[in-house]
Amino acid sequence: MKNIFIVILALFIVIHQPAAANAAAKKPLQSKTIAVDPGHGGYDPGAVWGNIYEKDINLKISKILSKYLQDAGAKVILTRDGDYNHAIVGLHGRDAKRYDLNRRIKLIESHKADLVITIHVNSLRQKSYEGAETFYHPKSKEGKLLALAIQQELRTIPGMKKRIAKISNCYMLSNTKVPAVLVEAGFLSNPHERKLLQYPEYLDVLAQKIAAGVVKYYTSPAEVENQGVLQKTSAGIDFIFRVMEHAFLAGDDFKNGHCDCIIH
Ligand SMILES: [Zn+2]
Repeated sequence: MKNIFIVILALFIVIHQPAAANAAAKKPLQSKTIAVDPGHGGYDPGAVWGNIYEKDINLKISKILSKYLQDAGAKVILTRDGDYNHAIVGLHGRDAKRYDLNRRIKLIESHKADLVITIHVNSLRQKSYEGAETFYHPKSKEGKLLALAIQQELRTIPGMKKRIAKISNCYMLSNTKVPAVLVEAGFLSNPHERKLLQYPEYLDVLAQKIAAGVVKYYTSPAEVENQGVLQKTSAGIDFIFRVMEHAFLAGDDFKNGHCDCIIH
């Protein structure tokens, strides 16, 4: 069954390559500066599963995403391009984390980025949760629109759990002045998704879809807004369930020590 899914995914990649090439030819992101922020790095691995580190997956997706955004005409700022973070010697725990994030935010501001995309991968004790999801700050109208656009694209990946964009008060979203979103690209704790996140081709599809969401945000905001309304109307009960699920997961995340969307 999983092999069939991988074959379908491979076909999907082949079919969609020309579309990505067309979008790049039009350079829809010309004159835009986009900050891509690969979560964690260095001594901070993020979520860990055996020898699989979230920080590595975040960086791989971010680098591919940068390429797609540049192909579409954008100038891209990566907040890190290797296995490190920006904390300094002598700081520990939450202080080090806060320092690292503040340095990233300063970097984003100094380059006058038009928007920010933070990339993470989730992990929970409950193994059944799967699917990529995009978060935005509750007070950011533009952040919401960007998150809706990206989530709409992520939902088109074959076999992808159809999650919706959600609100979060995490540090990066609360402290950036320009529209910002946090993409949790999947759950390392889910065996099937963990396997997928090992395939460079799957990371490529994720990056391609995130980039397509950014293009859609700039080129078709009305369409994004309309689809967002339809999505919510058709999934009203599902939406309430997911808000409850998020509240439940907040506790679970905390116990697990990986809490990107809760305290960062
Ligand atoms: Zn993370």
